[in-house]
Amino acid sequence: MDRIGTPKEVTRGIYHIEIPTPFPVGPVNVYLLEGDFLTLIDTGPLTKEAWQTLSQGIMQIGYELSDIRQIVLTHHHVDHCGLLERVRQSSGAHTLAHSKAVPYVEANEEFMAYHARFFYELYTESGVPEESLIIIDKFHNRTMSFSERSQIDDCLKHGQTLPHFPEWQVFYTPGHSQSQISLYRAEDCVMIAGDHIIKHISSNAFIEPPQDQSANRPLTLVQYRTALEMCADKEIDIILSGHGEPITNHRELILQRLQKNWIRTDALLRLMKDGEKTAYELTTLLFPHVYQKELPLTLSETLGHIDLLQILHQLEVKRRDGVLYYSL
Ligand SMILES: [Zn+2]
Ligand SMILES: [Zn+2]
Repeated sequence: MDRIGTPKEVTRGIYHIEIPTPFPVGPVNVYLLEGDFLTLIDTGPLTKEAWQTLSQGIMQIGYELSDIRQIVLTHHHVDHCGLLERVRQSSGAHTLAHSKAVPYVEANEEFMAYHARFFYELYTESGVPEESLIIIDKFHNRTMSFSERSQIDDCLKHGQTLPHFPEWQVFYTPGHSQSQISLYRAEDCVMIAGDHIIKHISSNAFIEPPQDQSANRPLTLVQYRTALEMCADKEIDIILSGHGEPITNHRELILQRLQKNWIRTDALLRLMKDGEKTAYELTTLLFPHVYQKELPLTLSETLGHIDLLQILHQLEVKRRDGVLYYSL
């Protein structure tokens, strides 16, 4: 891709703008869909640099912010939706996302309190030491500082077409996020996939609380694998992702991602050979160099692979004093 801030038409009617982020993942890709109803897909995070790059990028393509009629979010992560409210205010655009994005975008206080409680319980039962539990609030507060409260006007569902763009179909592709959708244009086999699949890094299947508080947490890695398989079944010439370069060999890449899960489950099984371990202990052994800096990401990764092994009845789990211990 060109240097940050140089927008260009990647394929018919789709312009790409690369927006800087303060996150290790690097810049985020947002897309402008041309048509009678100019549509922005994702916005970038709430930073001065992102706002400048986005506004300038839209002008370089030949539009004004006020020309944007609708904004679609691929998912609720702040690198994709932090500027939503600012773009909405500047354009008066209609906002669309999957229903599961709504409580995050609205930063619903009751939901956020439940969200914090869920992670406190999850980290405690995973054996995270008491003194490290502070990471939950720290991570959440830092993340949320790159977005502001906004609203979703209409929810998008799997199988429907994108309003004003009958050639684009919406696919629900959960796993990386419970709100993750992808857009597919069958006539020229183009997909806009957000973070569902990224060329240069494996997307993390982040653990999220169930929005129905009485339900079990979603098995995000299992969902993710299913959604990847759904995409492997589609004819796709080019996938435009939320980060990095377009993907032109999606089946090969999906197979690599699916296979990588089994390499990691094998590693987990080896680590459990000498006795029972908590999810936190397994995380420290699996990611010795990054677990301290990236606990939410690495613990999520470990739990996802534990879920896969549990589905295959490869693990025994015992609860003692509120902590779960896994063994072969
Ligand atoms: Zn994401
Ligand atoms: Zn992202």
